[in-house]
Amino acid sequence: MPSDVRWFWQDHGACRETDPLLFFHPQNERGSARAKRDRAAKIVCAGCTVRLECADYAVRAREPYGVWGGLSEDEREQIYARLDSRHYPRAQGEGARVAAREIAEAVSPRVLGIA
Ligand code: SF4
Repeated sequence: MPSDVRWFWQDHGACRETDPLLFFHPQNERGSARAKRDRAAKIVCAGCTVRLECADYAVRAREPYGVWGGLSEDEREQIYARLDSRHYPRAQGEGARVAAREIAEAVSPRVLGIA
């Protein structure tokens, strides 16, 4: 876990008023049910003012579960797979920088089906 983690941004997350179960899949959830729940969570993230801070944290902490900063578990796994473990981002802001393309794409209107 990043050593500089400060959770101030969570106080401003749009998900504070949302059921946490929207962001974390129940056991054995698969297929269209999972895609539908992930999409609903991403729509909340798309309007969140601390999305970049959230995504930055999730990438650096290698969060295994849930939608963070609009990134699903699978999307983060793809980011982890392409990053060099020897130079893995640790400093605050580095996660957002190295995954900027994926973070932007994750909540694009095209991906969310609202284009
Ligand atoms: S980006 Fe999404 S998961 Fe992160 S704080 Fe905002 S609403 Fe919550």
